[in-house]
Amino acid sequence: MGGAYDAVVIGAGSTGVTTAYYLAREGFRVLVIDRRGVVQGMTAYSLGLVRSYYANEDVARMSHYSHGFFMNFERNFGVNVFTRTGLLVIGNDEDDMRRTFEVLRGIGTNARLLSSNEIREMLNADVASNEVGIYEEDAGYADTSLYTNTIMNRARELGVEFIIDEAQVQVEGDGVAGVRLVSNGGIIRANHYVVATNVWIQKTLPQLNLPIRNIIERVVRVDVGRSLPNVFDYVNNFYIRPEGTNGGLMGLLYPPEDTWTDPDTFNPLAEPEFDYAVNLMERAARRFPWFVNVKYLGGWRGLYDVTPDWMPIIDEPIKDLIIVAGLSGHGFKLAPAFALMVTELIKYGRMRTFRDIFRLIRFKEGRMVKGTVQEKAAF
Ligand SMILES: Cc1cc2nc3c(=O)[nH]c(=O)nc-3n(C[C@H](O)[C@H](O)[C@H](O)COP(=O)(O)OP(=O)(O)OC[C@H]3O[C@@H](n4cnc5c(N)ncnc54)[C@H](O)[C@@H]3O)c2cc1C
Repeated sequence: MGGAYDAVVIGAGSTGVTTAYYLAREGFRVLVIDRRGVVQGMTAYSLGLVRSYYANEDVARMSHYSHGFFMNFERNFGVNVFTRTGLLVIGNDEDDMRRTFEVLRGIGTNARLLSSNEIREMLNADVASNEVGIYEEDAGYADTSLYTNTIMNRARELGVEFIIDEAQVQVEGDGVAGVRLVSNGGIIRANHYVVATNVWIQKTLPQLNLPIRNIIERVVRVDVGRSLPNVFDYVNNFYIRPEGTNGGLMGLLYPPEDTWTDPDTFNPLAEPEFDYAVNLMERAARRFPWFVNVKYLGGWRGLYDVTPDWMPIIDEPIKDLIIVAGLSGHGFKLAPAFALMVTELIKYGRMRTFRDIFRLIRFKEGRMVKGTVQEKAAF
């Protein structure tokens, strides 16, 4: 089915916008449609952690590639969106940590294995003798809105068009007949369609009955009064991400899996429950004795679009329709890798740079994409 565009991308969050930019760089004619505007979905509430650290080698390679995109962002786009803070991961399964460390070293990440003493010194923390750390020096966080808007501006310079409207995918037979704009009923046709609607994916494509549920993630803001690296503490189940010089954003690495089906009725501005914040801060106080002086400043909530293995779905379930969904709470940093994968699928009909392991069929065949102990690779 030929169309006015080579590709229509639905969703203007980090995934859709980065994909549109990659496609435009290859000379494709691209239209992006978003019902609210640029960065109006979960990208806006993301913590924007960027790192190569993943236990699964395929995902670590994708993350390492994307990390490079963020590290070189200022040089390529003239805007600094990335703050380098380092990331310290603390665990007590030494074999597992060593395996992950070998994966990271194998792909060229700037990481070191730390003893309990070294962690203690680095963070002024309580550390048991059986605990070890992986420190990734170049990790940090990005301003997710500035990133997405900057990419969108560059994409538009390359000819990408943008419409604010609600898009309905028109499936006919075994293909896509076009995308219908809700405001005026107009039909837009393209050679390829990319759906990147994240927690709205079940509303965009209900007929696919995807194995994705939306779960709530709470973010707690604190004033820590000191600068910290990003910390993932798998022993006490919490993370903290620096915010500016003295601030911190915290959450659970393994959040309670309470679901929220309809993202349109979800209020991201609601503060986390008080008990939740107290529990989280108690966890952090077990690691950092000085945490008793930390001030609670409120917070917000977001939704994760979670798959059974907490890994994304990148697939073409209907001819010429590619979905990038089920990002499971860690899809921001991987946006450049997703964009490359989709662009290769459209350009060459197959992925070339990364392995094609995120198809839906894996759930039916029981071939989950796993890491080592930290299988839920949150953030
Ligand atoms: C609290 C929180 C913290 C996170 N922290 C991190 C982190 O530290 N690092 C990390 O890598 N990831 C993190 N994530 C995950 C990451 O932010 C997301 O995976 C990623 O931003 C999703 O981007 P997206 O473009 O796929 O979706 P979104 O940003 O949600 O964009 C989807 C867009 O689709 C549009 N849309 C929906 N339906 C339609 C329709 N029918 N027609 C037109 N438009 C439509 C919406 O308006 C929306 O703008 C976090 C997520 C949350 C919630």
